[in-house]
Amino acid sequence: MLNAEISQISGVGKYRERHFKRLGLHTAYDMLCYFPRSYEDRSTIKRICDLIDGETVCIKATACTVFKSRRVRRGLSYQKITVTDNTGVVFITWFNQDYLAKNFDLSAEYIYYGKIAVKNGRVEMNSPVIVKDNKIEPVYPLTSGLTQNIFRKVMENCIGYINQIPESLPARIREKYTLCAIDYAIDNIHFPKSFEKLTHARYRLAFEELFLLQLGLRMLKKRRTVLTAKALCNRANVEGFIKTLPFSLTRAQNRVIEEILSDMQNVRVMNRLVQGDVGSGKTIVAAIAMLVAADSGAQAAMMAPTEILAQQHYQSIRGYLEKMGVKISLLTGSMSPKQKLAVYDEIKNGQVQIVIGTHALLQSGVEFKNLCLVVTDEQHRFGVKQRSALAEKGNTPHLLVMTATPIPRTLSLILYGDLDVSIIDELPPGRKTIETYAVNESMRKRINKFMLRQLSEGRQIYIVCPLVEENEDLELKAATEYADHLQNNVLKGFSVGLIHGRMKAKDKDDIMRRFANGQINVLVSTTVIEVGVNVPNASLMIIENAERFGLSQLHQLRGRVGRGEWKSYCILFCEGGSDITRQRMKIMTETSDGFKIAEKDLELRGPGEFFGTRQHGLPELKVANLYSDMDLVKKSGQAANDLIMRDPMLENSENAVIKKKIEDMFAQTGLFGQN
Ligand code: ADP
Ligand code: MG
Repeated sequence: MLNAEISQISGVGKYRERHFKRLGLHTAYDMLCYFPRSYEDRSTIKRICDLIDGETVCIKATACTVFKSRRVRRGLSYQKITVTDNTGVVFITWFNQDYLAKNFDLSAEYIYYGKIAVKNGRVEMNSPVIVKDNKIEPVYPLTSGLTQNIFRKVMENCIGYINQIPESLPARIREKYTLCAIDYAIDNIHFPKSFEKLTHARYRLAFEELFLLQLGLRMLKKRRTVLTAKALCNRANVEGFIKTLPFSLTRAQNRVIEEILSDMQNVRVMNRLVQGDVGSGKTIVAAIAMLVAADSGAQAAMMAPTEILAQQHYQSIRGYLEKMGVKISLLTGSMSPKQKLAVYDEIKNGQVQIVIGTHALLQSGVEFKNLCLVVTDEQHRFGVKQRSALAEKGNTPHLLVMTATPIPRTLSLILYGDLDVSIIDELPPGRKTIETYAVNESMRKRINKFMLRQLSEGRQIYIVCPLVEENEDLELKAATEYADHLQNNVLKGFSVGLIHGRMKAKDKDDIMRRFANGQINVLVSTTVIEVGVNVPNASLMIIENAERFGLSQLHQLRGRVGRGEWKSYCILFCEGGSDITRQRMKIMTETSDGFKIAEKDLELRGPGEFFGTRQHGLPELKVANLYSDMDLVKKSGQAANDLIMRDPMLENSENAVIKKKIEDMFAQTGLFGQN
């Protein structure tokens, strides 16, 4: 039975059961859905004369020397033999395989699978496996207590149940996109009869995965959009407020504001993502949405990923809206319990209309009187789940998500498949481009001089080193040492501050505040300054080991300068001159369009790294790759749309398997558990 307990499967038993369970494998079906991490090709046999240094291959050969077995010392022996296939010879060595000597048949032809090393023209193979069954072998991700051989045996026993697996994709879709059947796919993902069959199996499974993912996201969106929200339609103060601004809004800002406000005046709940390059002016857009919420008798909350950012938003939004008679509060983790309680009170009794804060907003003590608009800034820092956690504090509030990470359209369809998208594709007029240079160590002295010149003109400088917190590679310049070095040498007489991810929020804030008010001239930091901070007097951004950063990240960092009236510069120090590095740096020096940069980054660096290690809160994919299987993303997206047109909430019995699979897929995300 497909649902047979794992301990019932021959080869597992009571003794090994716990190892399988540790991998999350409780039934035969779980086993069949646990896919190999890679494969060993023991199916193709290479001629010895064609062997290449470093490759792992199969050869088929007979012995041409006697079998030597020697004991070096207690616990260490080696076995040697030379074999040939008549195109060349290979010197084979094993360690501690004494039993081999006894059983080895010198006249027999064996297949050896192992790694080739060529030393002084001598072809060697160390500790090869003698292959009995020459085929493609799966390699599974395992924990201690299990070996590949045991695991494969058990898997072979499970494969017997394969015809009990229900087909999940409708025949119509399988035909249209030429996808193989589920049993064929599962069989061949585990024990591929050929690489071609493996490709077919993978294709189908990847398609299905992306199909289910997109269906799930579409359903989430449907489910939210059928919910009723409070219509927020009092725009009476909007025009007057816009007149008070020291600048006029860009066309793009006006368009996006209109999109947001017309969503909000509906009882259909808003789910909108605003994408806009650094500096495109997203804050004011959010402020206007919150003004309308407040004027419509509701509360609005805005969540930012860091304390610094929350504070800056608080200050600028208070600057904008307090004069409009709106009461605004700040709520962050570093506030004292007493301060927090006071804010909790104001929120609960409705004295405060707008709350700006960090994750602290998600705490259970926070209860709103009438939360109808939720804004999250820099969305890629939050998981999908946190976004909805804040929403749950209200009674189906309208949702506005803002991000500066320019995401290519295809990707945003997936990552934000449950949101409508508005794009601010225009910067305010008069923004000067930031002159960007990619340099190497030979320019160090000149750059140091340049720093001094900027400082003596009264400007401030950011110096960014790659993360201390995530990557402790010794070769990276530790930001700490570097700051000391600068302070004591090149930048003697100026004040150098240091900020990094391991510091307490309070200390970070303190440093940022001193940088913002000019007490600190040069700020050495890890990427913690990446998002949103605004110090208009800073005119120079120096990035060390720039090759370690994603281009989009570099672009965000660069966006910290050029915020004031001063001509601004970005210097990218980079080591090593691989072609890719050079191309990437060239893009940075030539382009200031965040979207173009993001697309190029995807193209050059491989998309896996696009979002770094950051969680986006979506289900994990086992076969498909969101970034490189772009074509598959599109096709499966079409198929998902098609299905949802026919059966919006998957209530048809023919779609029951799909529905169940989606629920399983989203189980860890918690997204389907709630409303
Ligand atoms: P981001 O989109 O990166 O969050 P901000 O909202 O922080 O950008 O805006 C960056 C700066 O541009 C702020 O100082 C803001 O006051 C200013 N700004 C916003 N909109 C305009 C505009 N239409 N014209 C001129 N300056 C603007
Ligand atoms: Mg911002």
